[in-house]
Amino acid sequence: MKFTKFTEKFFLCVMVAVVVCSSMCVFSVLPKARVKNVILFIGDGMGFNHIQSAKIQSGQNTLAMEGLDTAAQNRTSSLSVGWPTDSAAGATAFACGQKVYNGNVGRMNGNDIKNISEYAIEAHKSVGIVTTDSITGATPAVFSSHVDDRSMESEIARQQSNSDIDLLMGAETRGNMTIREMTAYALDFLVAKQNTGFFLMVEAGLIDKHSHSGDIASMIAELLELDEAIKYAKEWATARGDTAIIVTADHETGGLEIGEGKPNNTWYTSPDHTAVNVPIFVFRVTLDANHFISNNTIDNTAVFILLATCLDLKISA
Ligand SMILES: [Zn+2]
Repeated sequence: MKFTKFTEKFFLCVMVAVVVCSSMCVFSVLPKARVKNVILFIGDGMGFNHIQSAKIQSGQNTLAMEGLDTAAQNRTSSLSVGWPTDSAAGATAFACGQKVYNGNVGRMNGNDIKNISEYAIEAHKSVGIVTTDSITGATPAVFSSHVDDRSMESEIARQQSNSDIDLLMGAETRGNMTIREMTAYALDFLVAKQNTGFFLMVEAGLIDKHSHSGDIASMIAELLELDEAIKYAKEWATARGDTAIIVTADHETGGLEIGEGKPNNTWYTSPDHTAVNVPIFVFRVTLDANHFISNNTIDNTAVFILLATCLDLKISA
């Protein structure tokens, strides 16, 4: 068979398109980003009733996080069938776009899974990781290291210090700063880098810790502090116009219930994580078919696609 020059070129183009699409088609539908920066707030363990009880007990009708553009539900399951997810697997879904087994930190079956911080750095963006918990805790670890198990904290610390992440801030370095102050510091720091954009993850880690220990008052204090930071970030992002915000949780902790009988009647039904859906709120990014939303619910892995969309990153599947 003899092709003309034009036909040969046409066939070559089609073949290239087929090969590229078959390896990347999940991500090839990403819409063009309207923004260049994204802030991901994670309330570790923050379920719908954590937010509800914080509102009831602080006398507020609405929290700042609820005032973002869109609210939906986030399905939190990991590959550990029969168990609720833990923070390591939950945050790996956000950071890497893949489900793993509980305990896995951006790594499964001996293979590292590239995380959003690495993609962002490759695209010449700045990256900041901030938490009120230890910087080697599971959630910040997922965005800054790859280990088989979350307990390998000295290896996590070694990888963090060797990483190209611009800012790592945790309980070890925050001093008396509130979450709002840590967020403001991180935003100023990342903007001063004058890169092509930034990714900032801010975790309120004590919502989970206080829920494990059944301390409702301290849990609410941490949640309201997180909300102050989100309020600040929304005002900051509104003034700039180039920054998206995502607020969600890796899982619910404590099976929090709110009932009748007396005022502020709130109680935990479990000392552990539960498998219920958690809230997700977004600002300046759209939850649509590209993020596999159905019945107002997304999968936790779709948070990765949201982040990649906001940062306009090219993701290799
Ligand atoms: Zn926990």
